[in-house]
Amino acid sequence: MHVPFVDLKIQYQNIKADIDRAIAEVIAKTAFIGGEPVKSFEEKFGALYGVKHVISCANGTDSLYIIMRMLGIGAGDEVITVANSWISSAETISQTGARPVFVDVHPDYYSIDENLIEARITPRTKAIIPVHLHGQMCDMERIKAICDKHNLFLIEDCAQSHFSEFKNVRAGLFGIAASFSFFPGKNLGAYGDAGCIITNDDTLATKFTMFARHGALKKHQHEMEGINSRLDGLQAAVLSAKLPYILQWTESRIKNAQLYSKYLSGVDEIVLPSVRPQTKHSFHLYVIRAKERDALATYLNGKGIETAIHYPRTLPNLPAYRYLGHTPEDFPVSTGLQSQILSLPMYPELTGEMIEYVADTIRLFYASTKGR
Ligand SMILES: *Cc1c(COP(=O)(O)O)cnc(C)c1O
Repeated sequence: MHVPFVDLKIQYQNIKADIDRAIAEVIAKTAFIGGEPVKSFEEKFGALYGVKHVISCANGTDSLYIIMRMLGIGAGDEVITVANSWISSAETISQTGARPVFVDVHPDYYSIDENLIEARITPRTKAIIPVHLHGQMCDMERIKAICDKHNLFLIEDCAQSHFSEFKNVRAGLFGIAASFSFFPGKNLGAYGDAGCIITNDDTLATKFTMFARHGALKKHQHEMEGINSRLDGLQAAVLSAKLPYILQWTESRIKNAQLYSKYLSGVDEIVLPSVRPQTKHSFHLYVIRAKERDALATYLNGKGIETAIHYPRTLPNLPAYRYLGHTPEDFPVSTGLQSQILSLPMYPELTGEMIEYVADTIRLFYASTKGR
């Protein structure tokens, strides 16, 4: 049996009529940049998510950069984020001129360890960017309290956590603003690069829009220098066409995760993902910790099962951050995870049969290594 890591083809086939119609309409209207399709997606996503402003942009990386720039973060500042994430969470901090300050991950939940944050706060700290990695919410009560106490901006990186919840509040609604990615493989994915910012702050919403559109709200009226970061009409139409399905897809991911955990329970060589109490984990990824991880991944691949690693090297251990002078021992938990974590296939359309096959194959692998 072949089990791809993600399967965007099957999703397309399931909603082909909606997608094809949406794309044809944009082309018929030649609404390629801005215009009705973009406005309509922003409105629909905002209504569904329960937020006042949605500012679409070119990708999730830009959205982080735009937020920080418009909060006035720049040279001389420090911004705290998590050691294990996609590089966007950190490189955008550097792009503003500020310095990324990494915090190790929680040993059970793999997102920022809230117990270690305060030790990294200095008079230069301006913001904290928690990342709800894999779809697992950070402890937003603790992090919000830390931000309030030290007067720091709270910016959520929700690239992997569309519709995740902490105590019944959705990801992205805790801080001053939040960033989303609609990269094709994300829980809500476009057919190319796409992203957005959400906020309930009117003044900031205007600033974000202005900065992302060359510093102008009206053509040729540039109030400042900005950047060019726009969602195009085709991507907006694809996203709008997918919106009616997103809640049910999220539930399917959760069901699939529960099935994995059921079929894999009792395998001593692996650690299953734990879900933080009182949260909704949207399972962008289903990440296990596995003994002999690389041998397991090779074995699974040989049996038609694709896997991935998120991420093979924790950010401070990357050459890009050598200049910060860290050693792997500075981040013992995330450095330790690097050689253990394995992301199993995860998408809404996975079948129970496929999940059972993946679980059985993992059991077979460990049975075959017994007594070696
Ligand atoms: C995907 C991702 C981003 C960046 O999104 P792009 O749309 O690819 O720019 C940022 N942060 C995290 C945690 C991500 O997974």
